[in-house]
Amino acid sequence: MEGTLYPAFGPEISCPQCRLPIPGLILTETYLCDRHGAFEVDGPTGELVHGQSGRRWRRWQGEWYRQHMHPDGLRFEIHYSLDDAYRLGERVSKIRIAERYRPLLQGCLEQKGQEEHLFGLQVEFGSDESPDWAVVNFQLVKETGRLRRKS
Ligand SMILES: [Zn+2]
Repeated sequence: MEGTLYPAFGPEISCPQCRLPIPGLILTETYLCDRHGAFEVDGPTGELVHGQSGRRWRRWQGEWYRQHMHPDGLRFEIHYSLDDAYRLGERVSKIRIAERYRPLLQGCLEQKGQEEHLFGLQVEFGSDESPDWAVVNFQLVKETGRLRRKS
């Protein structure tokens, strides 16, 4: 909103690193975490940028989603998420990855016939449904539950 004293995400946000509430500094686009230092709002992209590391996040429904610049970061995130799913006994049938990462992952995917695979699972890009795929990075398609859909 124009004329507001606070940075674009309001007077307070949760730190993308530690999730504690951190204040916006008046008349700046800066949020300051005692533990992690300064985060700046990058106006044109709507992203939050960590001053020290250059890491970037986008926000959707109050959650921060790290925006990956390097394929390894995204692959690690997917790998951890798969580990969690397997630990919970969930069966993952596919990995759906945001379309914007297609160029980044070129060269990391295994070609099997017409399909592309990562960690032994089929990969598809983009989505025709919520959540907001301009922000989130990927979704594990489980064999049962609400993420299921016919292909
Ligand atoms: Zn923090």
